[in-house]
Amino acid sequence: MKAIRRFSVRPVLPDPLRPLQELAFNLRWSWHPETRELLRSVDPDSWQAAGEDPVRLLGTVSADRLARLAADRGFQRRLGVAVGDLHDYLTEPRWYQQADIRAGGELPRAIAYFSPEFGITAALPQYSGGLGILAGDHLKAASDLGAPLIGVGLLYRHGYFRQSLSPDGWQQEHYPVIDPHELPLAPLAEDDGTPARVTLALPGGRTLAARIWQVRVGRVPLLLLDSAVGENGPAERDVTDRLYGGGSEHRLLQEMLLGIGGMRAVRAYCRLTGHPEPEVFHMNEGHAGFLGPERIRELGEMGIGFDAALRAVRAGTVFTTHTPVPAGIDRFPEELVARHFGEGGELAALGTEALLGLGREAAAEGEPAQFNMAVLGLRTAQRANGVSALHGNVSRGMFAGLWPGFDPEEAPIGAVTNGVHAPTWTADAMLRARTGSLTDAELWDLRRTLREQLVHEVRARLRASWRQRGAGAAELGWVDDVLDPDVLTIGFARRVPSYKRLTLMLTDRERLTSLLLDPERPVQIVVAGKAHPADDGGKRLIQELVRFADDPEVRHRVVFLPDYGMAMARSLYAGCDVWLNNPLRPLEACGTSGMKAALNGCLNLSVRDGWWDEWFDPDFGWEIPTADGLAAAEPERRDAIEAAALYALLTGQVAPCFYDRGVNGNGLPTRWLEMVRATLDRLGPRVLAERMLTEYVTDFYAPAAAAHRAMTPEAAGELAEFADRVRGAWPRVSVDHVEPGAEQPTLGGTVPLRVRVALGDLDPAAVEVQAVTGRVDGDDTLADPVYVQLKPEGGPDLAGRWTFSGELTPHRPGPYGYTVRVLPAHRLLAHRAELGLVALPPAEAAEATGALLR
Ligand SMILES: *Cc1c(COP(=O)(O)O)cnc(C)c1O
Repeated sequence: MKAIRRFSVRPVLPDPLRPLQELAFNLRWSWHPETRELLRSVDPDSWQAAGEDPVRLLGTVSADRLARLAADRGFQRRLGVAVGDLHDYLTEPRWYQQADIRAGGELPRAIAYFSPEFGITAALPQYSGGLGILAGDHLKAASDLGAPLIGVGLLYRHGYFRQSLSPDGWQQEHYPVIDPHELPLAPLAEDDGTPARVTLALPGGRTLAARIWQVRVGRVPLLLLDSAVGENGPAERDVTDRLYGGGSEHRLLQEMLLGIGGMRAVRAYCRLTGHPEPEVFHMNEGHAGFLGPERIRELGEMGIGFDAALRAVRAGTVFTTHTPVPAGIDRFPEELVARHFGEGGELAALGTEALLGLGREAAAEGEPAQFNMAVLGLRTAQRANGVSALHGNVSRGMFAGLWPGFDPEEAPIGAVTNGVHAPTWTADAMLRARTGSLTDAELWDLRRTLREQLVHEVRARLRASWRQRGAGAAELGWVDDVLDPDVLTIGFARRVPSYKRLTLMLTDRERLTSLLLDPERPVQIVVAGKAHPADDGGKRLIQELVRFADDPEVRHRVVFLPDYGMAMARSLYAGCDVWLNNPLRPLEACGTSGMKAALNGCLNLSVRDGWWDEWFDPDFGWEIPTADGLAAAEPERRDAIEAAALYALLTGQVAPCFYDRGVNGNGLPTRWLEMVRATLDRLGPRVLAERMLTEYVTDFYAPAAAAHRAMTPEAAGELAEFADRVRGAWPRVSVDHVEPGAEQPTLGGTVPLRVRVALGDLDPAAVEVQAVTGRVDGDDTLADPVYVQLKPEGGPDLAGRWTFSGELTPHRPGPYGYTVRVLPAHRLLAHRAELGLVALPPAEAAEATGALLR
């Protein structure tokens, strides 16, 4: 029989054990081994049975056991220490509170951080992959550093799917329902105790309501919106049913709830708790883009017009793009957006056309116009970044069209390379060991222990998977011999979009088989990954891999583990010797799993994409050479070349290095251990989420907060008026005459330069006239340009033209060139390309109009 309704009975803890509640409800336990150890000691069996989830643990542990603990003085003492430690962690000044950090200028009082998913712990399954886990690590690092973030997201009733396999290796998806009452959540309540709500207006007079759940992530509150509430109709109740499910309209409603509802939730949270209002708003990818228009609406209610409000909103907004794949960006048909934001819908006061303009992207001939969430993000954020140096570059090229007239390198998109949260991703044994003081033998032993733990976990998971696929226990004796704790272990786990090339290793199966079965220097491989439920291509790749791994000839050396998630990931990163990554360069924006592996002394073997392009060093691992010069039309040839290079590296370098024992007669792989140490000591500190967060604080949040404060309604009005005025005048702005000095320049000498420009009715203070100088190549393209600001001289001539002059200083012998351009200049602009206006000498003055902002 099935129950028609379920509810959970919250345990009543005896008074002396009340503090357990606080430990369980602050997710800091998930990255604090001592707290986890205390929670485990409540009842080790129940802890295992509860999947190491403290809330579930407290819901299942027997009253008997609780009574015994309540009388146990030793336990009381340890509980007191753990709670005291948590209180210190929550209140003591940390990095963000240090005087010298704050000396550079007032830091933001609060930062709202919006993301469609958050991966904090397996016990709160609200993530699908890299984007969410990065968001979780961002919050944890903010907490550790004392940065005042407020996280904002959605609570999905089915989270992301759980993966299992059919007998023939086809991915099966399950969506277990989560019950908020069994999760570490607390409702945000109004002063009268009723649950706080946000509501959105929908077409046809409907409304979408959501309640607000709070999660404590150390010091950081995370607000999750949940549309499964009684006052919603059935369709609205399902808006937050699952991550990335449903069609276009479903996605649009989710993103409206995240952006608009999320802003309203932040306002409610600050009103109800006295938390300072955010001065910076950070969008982790475009899904939360509607927070910009929502804030334009708020300012509109204070009487600020659209243009000025847009300027004000941009000042405090940061947008991070995460995909170099155009198909990875959310787009909606304009007609769908217009329907939801038209008469009677949300944000109607902005005007549908103005709203559509914010997300419009150039459509190809005959194609319907699309509303692009990344374009919306870039138009509503004054500061933007990609997630590795290479990805910053690719993003500038990808979005260059928004700043016509500027070279792609000048597009105002910077880069902050992602990082990972060390206390979350480093194995406890590795955290405890002070690796710097270990001898080679001890370090090797530690690595073996981690590998052995993984081997045991793999066998348990493989057995469970085979039982689930229909095998009887008696048929599974072979599972006890799967993997060997002394064999070189390679890990490969990720989501399965085609660019990640799950099956590249299968390109030459004979070659792979001989690597696995090599009598002297065998390798073993652990693979995991989920394909998007709608991606049959990805599921076919998984099936290919599963079928290969099912073969009795190799099944002791290669396994596919279903249901890749945070719990599995942690032991996988720690127990592998080599982390393999072979995406199609440059489609991996950053990649973070190799960083997590590095924290545990696992070496990387990867295509030079994302972060590995930046930090590759032969002491940290190996680069798989790429054939990315090959035409896109030859994907198979490219795969074959790159796979051959991978096999050659494994046989020629990786395996010999791992199995090279006893050069010193000590039975240890000397060079390998040297690389493990280099990875731990020199790469480890770079891959940290703390490093990432400090870069966001200094390079993005602090300047955004300063810009936000400078942008009073008057200043915003002034900037909007300025933008309008220069845009009107721009057709009459030109570089009319360039007068170079006479002599041939010599190195160390100077070249005087004098130009005449027409400025329409603008005066010289409204522009910057620049000489752009640098080396030139064969077709006169300027490389590594240097910008020299020219100064106005005297008044206008009879034709109304102004003279600007200055001196160029060639700092390198050889071919050297320059050009001149005019740009709008205003103290409130963050970047010279911001208004998308530039005037160049006639030959180049191609299509420098049609700018970023209408
Ligand atoms: C880190 C992580 C990812 C993302 O890994 P990438 O290398 O960035 O693709 C995905 N899933 C889980 C469970 C992770 O821990």
